[in-house]
Amino acid sequence: MQDCIFCKIVNKEIPADIVYEDDNVLVFKDIKPAAPIHLLLIPKKHISTFFDLQPEDNDIMGRVQRAAATVAGDMGLTERGFRLVSNCMSDAGQVVFHIHYHLLAGRPLQWPPG
Ligand code: 5GP
Ligand code: ZN
Repeated sequence: MQDCIFCKIVNKEIPADIVYEDDNVLVFKDIKPAAPIHLLLIPKKHISTFFDLQPEDNDIMGRVQRAAATVAGDMGLTERGFRLVSNCMSDAGQVVFHIHYHLLAGRPLQWPPG
């Protein structure tokens, strides 16, 4: 989608530090990390929010979630683990309206988040 920063990253129109890519999924480092490891996991398909998910998106969203385990495993996080979170709409602080998960790891994480 035009004017979507994550679509521009998918299309390599703007650079990102990509750590995993396949036909459906892209994983790259957050530009403003909130933890020693802070990745963004997105479907390559533009979907704005969870409220826009369609039944045909089940497969691709499952692939995004499985990419979290793949990447975390490759990074040696199988013992310590990670947090996968997604901000949906204004109360959660969603800024980029291309659905994404944050993968946070590398330090003990507070719960509940702010
Ligand atoms: P949200 O609040 O929408 O869940 O989070 C969007 C995230 O995208 C933020 O953590 C922000 O730092 C990150 N971000 C915004 N623009 C860019 C960008 O151009 N490149 C990268 N790598 N991350 C970005
Ligand atoms: Zn997009």
